[in-house]
Amino acid sequence: MRRQSLRESAARTYARSLPIVPVRARGVTIEGADGRRYLDCLSGAGTLALGHNHPVVLEAVRKVLDSGAPLQVLDMATPVKDAFTTELFANLPRELADDARVQFCGPAGTDAVEAALTLVRTATGNSGLLAFSGAYHGMTTGSLDASGGAPRGRVTRLPYPQDYRCPFGEGGERGADLCARWAESLLADPKGGVPAPAGMLVEPVQGEGGVIPAPDDWLRRMRRLTAAHGIPLIADEVQTGVGRTGAFWGVDHSGVVPDVMVLSKAIGGSLPLAVVVYRSALDQWRPGAHAGTFRGNQLAMAAGTATLAYVRENRLADRAAALGARMLAALRDLAGHHPRIGDVRGRGLMIGIELVDPEAGAAAGGPPPADPALGLAVQRECLSRGLIVELGGRHRSVVRLLPPLTLTDEQATAVLDRLADAVAVACAAADGARNRSGSHPDPSAKEPQ
Ligand code: PMP
Repeated sequence: MRRQSLRESAARTYARSLPIVPVRARGVTIEGADGRRYLDCLSGAGTLALGHNHPVVLEAVRKVLDSGAPLQVLDMATPVKDAFTTELFANLPRELADDARVQFCGPAGTDAVEAALTLVRTATGNSGLLAFSGAYHGMTTGSLDASGGAPRGRVTRLPYPQDYRCPFGEGGERGADLCARWAESLLADPKGGVPAPAGMLVEPVQGEGGVIPAPDDWLRRMRRLTAAHGIPLIADEVQTGVGRTGAFWGVDHSGVVPDVMVLSKAIGGSLPLAVVVYRSALDQWRPGAHAGTFRGNQLAMAAGTATLAYVRENRLADRAAALGARMLAALRDLAGHHPRIGDVRGRGLMIGIELVDPEAGAAAGGPPPADPALGLAVQRECLSRGLIVELGGRHRSVVRLLPPLTLTDEQATAVLDRLADAVAVACAAADGARNRSGSHPDPSAKEPQ
């Protein structure tokens, strides 16, 4: 770790907030070089649907290695790729699968987002994009433009419904209704100032934005709206896909069938893989319109095929729904004992706990301000209890859980116990600091990302 801090970039992130050196891992457990074991609820930022080193993934990878197949073949046809595409199509929403094309992209989620943007811009001839406040789509230029930071492209930002910090101060169905109306009226207004959109890009659950599930009815309205205007609907399922939210795809809860799906993370079964799946009518781009050297990672395709099949055969989406509901209920109970937990939310095994500062004084009628220092403190207390959690959200005050879908009931209980302890200690420290000085301690290290 000392050498890492001397030699690696100032931009490194998890290496700072999770100062451990993983040397072995299996399922939800990671072992550090110091022999300590951790329950890993970060799961490689949500890539490990089956946890670390699942036997079916290892077997699939070994089979390719032992077969003498080439490991890198650009975008040429191979039996390994054919099997992956067949398994992927078998799991897509039926209406899309019947008419789908797939583009294998560079290895990261952001590559697939870029490909999707090129695809719809080519097909529609438009360059604008509809995207949402709080979104996260990756770190390349087009993805960054579509994300919730400072836009540089021709992006129209629409409000994403959220109960706790509803932009209209409403939340619930009313808040979602107002968010939908905003989008509908803007698109209906010839003077609305919206650059002609090539697509609407939406996360079915905002992950990095703080674990905010899109209400089903709102998503259906976005589907109707985009269909009425001939705008392709692009679902970014990079984080929500493959059972994570308690359905195979995040869009499945609402029954919405998008025109384009952007997939990465879990579809590579822990190895880098990213694809765009879309309706054939959009397939108007030319050879080479979206290229990239590393589109042919055979090991990732084999690991991905094994993962997709295992999630399907073992109904792990249902398992995620049931276990996620239990964990959410337990965490809401915990929130009842801690006023510094402002909100608990999620879908399936994508769960967020928002830490707030109740004494700091809310804006009129609104929730208390977010407390990133407390978020960081909870993450640290978790780590010292052998639990790895993610920290995210717009203000970096949301403790996030993304455990493997294979988490057992006993492991879930251990996660909840450790988290409850960590929250109690961190909140007591925050209370103590408040009592002593009337203000919060600053986080000692600036949090990455
Ligand atoms: N889209 C979403 C919804 C994501 O959560 C992420 C990564 N967290 C990305 C895109 C970008 O993926 P990558 O980091 O692999 O480029």
